[in-house]
Amino acid sequence: MGKPSDRRRFNLKLKLQNPWTPRWMPAGLRDSLNNKHHSRDFNFARSEYLRTRVLFVAITFFLLAPLWIVIDYLLLPPEMLTNLVASRLILMGLLALVIFSALHNKHRLNRIRNTLAILLLLPAIFYLALVLFYSEKMGSLIGYNFIPLLIIAFLSVFPLTILESLGIGLTVIGMQFFALAELNELTTAYGGQSLGLLIIVLAISLWANHSQVSTLLRLYRQASMDSLTQLLNRGVLLEQLKQLCEDRDEKLEDNQIPAPISLLMFDLDKFKRINDTYGHSVGDQVLQIFAQVLRDELRNNDLIARYGGEEFIAVLPGTPKVDSMQVAERIRLQSEKATVIAHDGEAVNFTTSIGITEIRFDEDLDAALHRVDKRLYKAKSLGRNRYVAYDSPTVQEETYNYF
Ligand code: GH3
Ligand code: MG
Ligand code: MG
Repeated sequence: MGKPSDRRRFNLKLKLQNPWTPRWMPAGLRDSLNNKHHSRDFNFARSEYLRTRVLFVAITFFLLAPLWIVIDYLLLPPEMLTNLVASRLILMGLLALVIFSALHNKHRLNRIRNTLAILLLLPAIFYLALVLFYSEKMGSLIGYNFIPLLIIAFLSVFPLTILESLGIGLTVIGMQFFALAELNELTTAYGGQSLGLLIIVLAISLWANHSQVSTLLRLYRQASMDSLTQLLNRGVLLEQLKQLCEDRDEKLEDNQIPAPISLLMFDLDKFKRINDTYGHSVGDQVLQIFAQVLRDELRNNDLIARYGGEEFIAVLPGTPKVDSMQVAERIRLQSEKATVIAHDGEAVNFTTSIGITEIRFDEDLDAALHRVDKRLYKAKSLGRNRYVAYDSPTVQEETYNYF
């Protein structure tokens, strides 16, 4: 099985703990600071959480806007009424666009985030316009002074990362700063209190965002991960893969150029023998090490899952088959080099066979899975420790031998 000295040895515990954490940052904060370390599947889930809340808030604002016209009608001097009603109708139009955008951007995290920023900044812009036009009459505009505070408090409702929330919050505070300067209140006690309150509420909202994102991540990891390897489980993988293909087929319908999606299926070679020779716990370690090889060699954006006992799947969005063949080769080589030390100190090595395919447009997912499975077992029948990426008739063309 080879000597450990000339092979790559994995520090499993260190690696599995936290491959990306900068030393000075607590792991929990790193997860909620930005979405750099969130997997594609978690981004899918978070965009859905954000989308439903955006829809709820936008529809509520949309319904409240005309009700507020009635309150304005009862409270405001007639010369202010026409402009205010007109601007409220414009606001309703823009809110309708926000609702439309939220309805049509399922699973698109960036677009949903932008839609949310617009949703929250719309009332702030509305408030700033009021201040600019009616600075001397702001006292009679009951309820309007609360708008910046409400927006910042509203940030706590959304599972935003700290940087996302901070961006919107600081924009609103900047707007309030500008409004206070316009009202000549910047240096008064009212101005100071108002800005101070906004900063405190923003800090509370950021804390709420941190708790929400961390809790969501923890629950999501528990529900979607395989506990031994910390990879996605089969159910979540199939769900995400289906979604990915649907999104791509939608793009095709919109006449956009669709990205290729490569599918790799792995099965460890003669794994039963490892279990039988060294025991189940060494077998488990091999599975963990192989999972780590996959994590090391694939991108954050790829989906990696434990598909069954010692079967794994990787989905590479945006990667054509020729490129994924190079990825497969890297994984094959790194697996060969990896070593687990058995209880008696002996170095245990393992290899993997790999099937590769590209998912065709408008193809039934089962057909692609069936094809990749067939190629994997072709790799087995041709001697293992290799990949097969084609169904072509000649062995030379369809396999790549490495001995
Ligand atoms: P082949 O090269 O043809 O794939 O041979 P193989 O021995 O790997 O094939 P087979 O599918 O027959 O064996 C898979 C083994 O994986 C059987 C099962 O005991 C073992 N296995 C499945 N899940 C786990 C697990 O969670 N831990 C351990 N240690 N072993 C597992
Ligand atoms: Mg096997
Ligand atoms: Mg198997």
